[in-house]
Amino acid sequence: MFDVIIAGCGPTGAMLAAELRLHDVRVLVLEKDTEPVSFVRIVGLHIRSIELMAMRGLLERILERGRQRPAGGFFAAINKPAPEGLDSAHAYLLGIPQPVIVHLLEERAIELGAQVRRGCAVAGFEQDDDGVTVELADGEQLRSRYLVGCDGGRSTVRKLLGVGFPGEPSRSETLMGEMEVGVPQEEVAAKVTEICETDKRFSLRPFGGGVYRVVVPAAAGVGDRAEPPTLEDFQQQLRAIAGTDFGVHSPRWLSRFGDATRLAERYRVERVLLAGDAAHIHPPIGGQGLNLGVQDAVNLGWKLAAQIRGRAPETLLDTYQAERHPVAEDVLDNTRAQMELLSTEPGPQAVRRLLTELMDFDEVNRHLIEKITAIGIRYDFGEGPDLLGRRLRDIDVKQGHLYGLLHRGRGLLLDRTERLSVGGWSDRVDYLADPTAALDAPCVLLRPDGHVAWIGDDQQDLDDHLSRWFGQPAN
Ligand SMILES: Cc1cc2nc3c(=O)[nH]c(=O)nc-3n(C[C@H](O)[C@H](O)[C@H](O)COP(=O)(O)OP(=O)(O)OC[C@H]3O[C@@H](n4cnc5c(N)ncnc54)[C@H](O)[C@@H]3O)c2cc1C
Repeated sequence: MFDVIIAGCGPTGAMLAAELRLHDVRVLVLEKDTEPVSFVRIVGLHIRSIELMAMRGLLERILERGRQRPAGGFFAAINKPAPEGLDSAHAYLLGIPQPVIVHLLEERAIELGAQVRRGCAVAGFEQDDDGVTVELADGEQLRSRYLVGCDGGRSTVRKLLGVGFPGEPSRSETLMGEMEVGVPQEEVAAKVTEICETDKRFSLRPFGGGVYRVVVPAAAGVGDRAEPPTLEDFQQQLRAIAGTDFGVHSPRWLSRFGDATRLAERYRVERVLLAGDAAHIHPPIGGQGLNLGVQDAVNLGWKLAAQIRGRAPETLLDTYQAERHPVAEDVLDNTRAQMELLSTEPGPQAVRRLLTELMDFDEVNRHLIEKITAIGIRYDFGEGPDLLGRRLRDIDVKQGHLYGLLHRGRGLLLDRTERLSVGGWSDRVDYLADPTAALDAPCVLLRPDGHVAWIGDDQQDLDDHLSRWFGQPAN
């Protein structure tokens, strides 16, 4: 009997497993693939995900494998630098391939005590009042108290749950792969610059050793998304768009993706939950999907752990959907807008030029960057100061960095008044008295995901909020 079975060891499943293990939850991750995926999808981690890695003590090992790049230029690939003074200690993009992230997150989950079984596809399940019986493709049955579907856009768990996945089907497909080219670099660069003037879905970027990352729109109406494309598909499309196939050969990997946009109607049905691409899919423009999934996992982990420990306030687990569904809705919308702006039609091109001008206004640029990087998210915790419901940036505190105090995934009371206490919640909430903390409030209560759950200086009010988020105090 496990506490939680997670279907899928992609970035969302691995992150969730690690989060649950911080609270000693017995976790089994079932992954259908025998080997980790080797083809590279992601271009980068955005600011909020980088912050989450810092909050869990993972940033150093991730920085070792990634490259820091400027945070700007991601909204519809409009080339504008980020505004000055973004509200984060980590105001950059971290370029790192998806397989590396998945490897590091899986390694971390295992270090913390999660079990990961590869070559095990979830094929069915049944839930009852006490738990979920999960059936694998080979007929083996396993039992857990909760099941979380982190099994990607074609999620078996979501389909078996019967949860609706409304939205738009894919209208266009893009081919992406890594391969060698047979012509000089200058020749490629000149042609690519010319085509990219109008076609933003086309690129050939050198990755060293003569290898290029090739992105090119697929021929309309051909291909089966379940099957990887062939080198001939790439050659044909390169010739159609660039007039030459650049002599591409020796592919390292080839893949395709579409622009379907869909959002699960519900994130939870009793003991079964959905996270990551299993709950939402959208085109990769802006590079938000993996980030969104990892952030779902951090939102869900501590709540599910509290539920399993029997100390979650009654509605805590439902706040997962209440908070994360609107965030995904917003990401879907911004990707829809970005896709329109990539169109080569005259109307969208004119809107793109106008938006490019508008982004010279600091506020517009800042708003869009805060959206893409997810640092602008504010959960609805009721009336209160603007900081309530937002994540708190990493700040200097007398013990070093604030995020250094969140590694264990516990709550934190940061008290500048030095008068308050976490009393009977000290088994799940840490306390730091620091009158010098760079904070525009007397005292803040942070949830384990770093969002501000309360601001004030009154002990009774604080106790009410500790109960609201962390359940009843220990005797
Ligand atoms: C071209 C491209 C570029 C992208 N670039 C970015 C980017 O720059 N930034 C970004 O944030 N996002 C990006 N994305 C999106 C990102 O790749 C996805 O959002 C991310 O992989 C979602 O993670 P996940 O863990 O939810 O799902 P997945 O990564 O799909 O993982 C699901 C896992 O579940 C497993 N699985 C499936 N079915 C079962 C089953 N029945 N039983 C057990 N296991 C199962 C799968 O094998 C897989 O390992 C890009 C996507 C594409 C296509």
